[in-house]
Amino acid sequence: MIVRFHIIWMVLLINANAMAATLGPALESLAKPTMAGNAEKVEGFEFRFGLTDFTLDGEVEGVLGAEGVVGFAFKGEGTATFNLKTGPFLKANLTTIRDEVGGKSVNGGALEREFEGGVFFTNRVPEELFKGEHVTSSRLADIVDRSVQRWGDTRYTGIDHMLAPLVLDAMDEPVVFAVLWNGSDDAVFIYDPVNQHDEIYGRLRKESAVGGSFHYLDLIVQQPAGHDLKTRPQPRLVQTAIDLELVSHDNEIAREITTTTIRAGREPVRLVNFSLMNGRSEDYRPWDDQEFPIVVEKVSDAGGRSLEFSHKYGELLVLLPEALQPGKSVTITVVAEGGFLKNFSGDAYLVLGNMSYLPQLAIYDTAASFHSVVKVKDPFVPMACGRTVRRWVEEGLNCVESIEEKPIAFPFVIVGKFIVTEEQHQGFDIRVYSYANAKKRGAKNLIRNGLAVLDFYSNGMEPFPYKELEVIEIPYHRHFFWQAPAGLVEITSEGLSPTSSGLDERSNIIKRYASKGQNSRYAHEIAHQWFGNLVSWGTPYDNWISESFAEYLSFLFMSEGAKDKTKAKVQLREWETDVKECSKFSSIYGASALNGNPKHAQCYTQLLYGKGPYVLHALRQDMGDDKFKKMLFFLTTQAAKKPGMKIITEDVILFANAMTNKDYHPWFDKYVYGTEIPPKTW
Ligand SMILES: [Zn+2]
Repeated sequence: MIVRFHIIWMVLLINANAMAATLGPALESLAKPTMAGNAEKVEGFEFRFGLTDFTLDGEVEGVLGAEGVVGFAFKGEGTATFNLKTGPFLKANLTTIRDEVGGKSVNGGALEREFEGGVFFTNRVPEELFKGEHVTSSRLADIVDRSVQRWGDTRYTGIDHMLAPLVLDAMDEPVVFAVLWNGSDDAVFIYDPVNQHDEIYGRLRKESAVGGSFHYLDLIVQQPAGHDLKTRPQPRLVQTAIDLELVSHDNEIAREITTTTIRAGREPVRLVNFSLMNGRSEDYRPWDDQEFPIVVEKVSDAGGRSLEFSHKYGELLVLLPEALQPGKSVTITVVAEGGFLKNFSGDAYLVLGNMSYLPQLAIYDTAASFHSVVKVKDPFVPMACGRTVRRWVEEGLNCVESIEEKPIAFPFVIVGKFIVTEEQHQGFDIRVYSYANAKKRGAKNLIRNGLAVLDFYSNGMEPFPYKELEVIEIPYHRHFFWQAPAGLVEITSEGLSPTSSGLDERSNIIKRYASKGQNSRYAHEIAHQWFGNLVSWGTPYDNWISESFAEYLSFLFMSEGAKDKTKAKVQLREWETDVKECSKFSSIYGASALNGNPKHAQCYTQLLYGKGPYVLHALRQDMGDDKFKKMLFFLTTQAAKKPGMKIITEDVILFANAMTNKDYHPWFDKYVYGTEIPPKTW
């Protein structure tokens, strides 16, 4: 079927009132969108968002909020056709879709879905949508209510926060959040080339949990929007500096002052969306029902003027007095107080950084220097990312000032009842923080092994990129880093007892992690200082550049640098099992779409920590050991010259090409973007 699309958009009626609106009333209005009263008939009306084609037969009506149009509601017979981006990534999406449609073939790389109603929340209403016959309708208001209720059933952001940028910022491109209802099931379509840089389609699935059920998005299609495989997305905002002061007199409640600088990308921005948790509870609790809430007291600009803000859903929206122009920066200070340090299971340490404990943009939009002053009650000892400037004691508080000038994406702070063992060796400054009851010999071993790993990596790549390595020895993985931050490594002592109850992604990673030997885990974590921190990655699709490379570096150390080289063989065998199990579900590049159901979550882990390093091993055989190691060297030394640069998969291919004078695109198309398995040549 050949269809023509209405690609000209009705420019949203951005009236002066809406742009001057204050945040509070705008959010209040957006939480309860109203009907425009212009219900009309549509017949075979076709339009397109991203690569998705829609056809509507039935009735439509505009939806209003905050004195502007925020979208339209539809009831009747609708069809959505999700066209997959052609190219190497196509097959990964196709395999996920086949899973969805029960093994049936997907016609021409498109997934077709019918729906009976839905709401398209968007800043662009298709032109000529309202050119039909006027009707007095109907049940369109019910559709809006249903849609609002469904968003509310999720643990994602609330509809008021979600719609706020659509009315408070004038964006060049359309952004769409749609819930499509087909009688039994709700589907979600999101097209967002501005913030998420993705076009996604998935189903809202119900999950029962303690405290009531909720809906989560089970992704079926995910493809880049506003950029392609060869270009990196342009962040709307970049967080370039973070200055933190955190003080606690009881190691539970802390007062936190964050002064942070953000820079606008290619468009003017007025509404800043930070994530900032609303409190700490032992188990999941809704944002507004936290045992130890965190309250934002004040947000102000560099001149001390108060800025309007809304702190809900683990997000902090800040409305700037006027739009921040492209390339310009603004500095914002946020004062918050609450249970930042509340600990629940009698642990004698706490990690801040796995959740947004300070106002932070997404990791892809964060490349910030980090200066911190942390003061906690004795006997707790604080530490933070970066070089330790000084340690001191005042009024029963142990204090530390740290600074990291190189831009980082994970500003971590850790406090605990630690004793510190310190050694300097070959220019590396390495410190082990262990519990008071830990054996001194353990810390000495960690220092010795850590130095061996640092030495091994520094010889083949850019020298260790940070001033010091701080190793935190903990009994088990309760406060597990997603990824070791700059200058910090977390390592479990023997007798690991992972808290694995659910089948979620986190416990899968932990279970897998626990099965590895301590040395290869340690080598993996230290490898993140190069891949993950120095070489940061640009999109969720490129996460393998952190995890798969860290895992492969750990293998290189285990097979070439470690005393006992037999352990490396175990790693290789584990990867082979992963490759067999997960390859049919998606590709390494497409793994980020595999979130949601437990089987997919497991495959995500296997693709990143199993197939990824396996493919790198195959690449090393293909390129030759010398050229592969040269590639590691150049990747890290070039990254060191461009601080804050986010690497994408295309960059890795270009480095492979440069080392070999060959074109590795077809190779990566098959094994990284695609779902094929490289031949075993070893
Ligand atoms: Zn890792």
